[in-house]
Order: sequence, then structure tokens, then C-alpha cells
Amino acid sequence: MTVPLTPLTDEQLEAVLRFAVEMVGEPTISIEDLIADARWHRVELAQARAENERLQRANRTRQDYPFRCDACGRAHILDTSIPSEFWNKIAPDGGMLCTTCIDDRLALAGLRCEAEFYFVGKALKSKSYANSHGDLAEARA
Ligand SMILES: [Zn+2]
Repeated sequence: MTVPLTPLTDEQLEAVLRFAVEMVGEPTISIEDLIADARWHRVELAQARAENERLQRANRTRQDYPFRCDACGRAHILDTSIPSEFWNKIAPDGGMLCTTCIDDRLALAGLRCEAEFYFVGKALKSKSYANSHGDLAEARA
């Protein structure tokens, strides 16, 4: 059975600690110190949860492009296109690389090339995408 973790109020925390003291006997430190210690750990836990949520937001993928880099695991948000002759020298077997890992692998191989970056967000659209897939491309067709 999974019990959802919810933060205890100060009163609940104190009641739990007083119950624990009744069950196992007097602690070597005062119950007030135990409560202060538990509150400190509760703050530490809340900070760790907030940091974890921040990191998850920072590494979220696009809703319409839910991919992660096969090399580093970061969200792959920017579709990066490089000439095939360069890609074939650095590509993983059938895998996908983020822009940073493509750059790292090119540099490691002593290669340099130009790239096109494609991005379509809720309000932002890259020029490369607009030229090849967007309204501009449709207008030219
Ligand atoms: Zn990567």
C-alpha cells in the first residue's frame, strides 16, 4: 500500500513525536529539541522537493516533441539539422542527440559545420522552421 506523503502541521508533528516518546521512552534530548530537529528536516525536505520540481521543469520536453537525447538524457527541444556527411560521422545507431551533444561530438571529431535549428513552441517559431514548414513555405507553394 502506498501512503501519499503530505506535510505535517506543527501540531501533527508534535503529536507524532510525543507519541513516539510514549512508545519508546524518553529521548536523550528534549522533546522541544526533537521537534526543532524534525522541523529543520521538514524544511530541508521541502527544499529538496522544490529543487527536484525545478529540475524537472528545466528538463521538460516540448509537448509535441517528447524526445530526450540518447547520450545525455536532457530534453531535446531544438531539432538540429546538420549535413548528412557530418551527422553520419557522429550519430549514434538510430539514436537522437541534443544540440549540445552534437556540438560536443563534432568538436571531439575535429569537425565544424553549419546547422539549422527548428523549433515550434506555443508562441515562438524558428525562422528555419517557418521557411521550410510554416506559413512562408505555404505562401511560396
Ligand atoms: Zn545530449
